[in-house]
Amino acid sequence: MIEDKNQQRTQLSDLGEFGLIDHLTKNFKINHSSTIKGIGDDAAVLNFKKQVVVTTDLLVEGVHFDLSYMPLKHLGYKSVIVNLSDVYAMNATATQVTISIAVSNRFPLEAIEAIYAGIETAAKIYNIDVIGGDTTSSNKGLLISVTAIGEVDENGVVYRNGAKPNDLLVVSGDIGAAYMGLQVLEREKEVYKVNPNNQPDLEPYTYIIERQLKPEARKDIVKLLSDLDVKPTSMIDISDGLSSEIMHLCTQSKVGCDLYENKLPLDPQVISTCEEFNIDSTTVALNGGEDYELLFTISQDDYPKIKANPNLSVIGFIKEEKEGMHLITRADTKIPIKAQGWKNFND
Ligand SMILES: [Mg+2]
Repeated sequence: MIEDKNQQRTQLSDLGEFGLIDHLTKNFKINHSSTIKGIGDDAAVLNFKKQVVVTTDLLVEGVHFDLSYMPLKHLGYKSVIVNLSDVYAMNATATQVTISIAVSNRFPLEAIEAIYAGIETAAKIYNIDVIGGDTTSSNKGLLISVTAIGEVDENGVVYRNGAKPNDLLVVSGDIGAAYMGLQVLEREKEVYKVNPNNQPDLEPYTYIIERQLKPEARKDIVKLLSDLDVKPTSMIDISDGLSSEIMHLCTQSKVGCDLYENKLPLDPQVISTCEEFNIDSTTVALNGGEDYELLFTISQDDYPKIKANPNLSVIGFIKEEKEGMHLITRADTKIPIKAQGWKNFND
């Protein structure tokens, strides 16, 4: 934990702003030919031959993350991932990020280095150039703002508004795990408050905790769809929860949908943890959020290309707008889909 008195503490003021950025980014490499100039001048210079997508996200301590269980390295990693996920949701290739961090003086240099270590790891794994940023002081708490940039062929962009009646509704991976990981971490935090010597056994929850603390963005799914020669008719990433993302796709495409409860892809650890917490797993799948999976629609003609793929689940059908948006339960009843929106305004 960051307040650990045994850790080395170097005051940020010892380096000064320019020394700090140079120090934090000295190992970062430029890999993309679209990056003409990265860090080191007044502004970065980019040159794209394709269409450019840009997205930004602000993460605020106490609102989007809790440092009592979120390691700083993971926080740096996740702050990049949530932005890359939005780039992939446009069917684009992510190429650059800028990072801005505001910290109070309770954070030593070593804390910022840990955040940057996570950023560097994400940049390496996802092949992203870190091309700029700023670090400044805040009166209270930690804020991280990341802007991600990507590129895509003009006819390759996938918007939210292209779904058509009879299209299939498809989701990558599995859903609900990040939310259940958060429930376990919150429970252990309460236990720790009562008994700091208690060593929690987190072994049964490794997958769901990793989904919460160290999520991945589905760059691989964008490549897979391209390899399969499938262009989705609409696409969005799952940050707030499946229900609200389905509603975004349907509302913007002016269509309805039937979503099948028995098709929702759930990891066995999600099911067992839901039983333990006495929470309905379908509610978690619909409203959990932070899965960073891709939700998209495809023409039925493309179904043979995806049907055998273990990374993709067909979970429903697009209908005419007037038919509305419904969940078809295991008992074959129809329930209108609602956005629970218990998450932050985190898109
Ligand atoms: Mg999004």
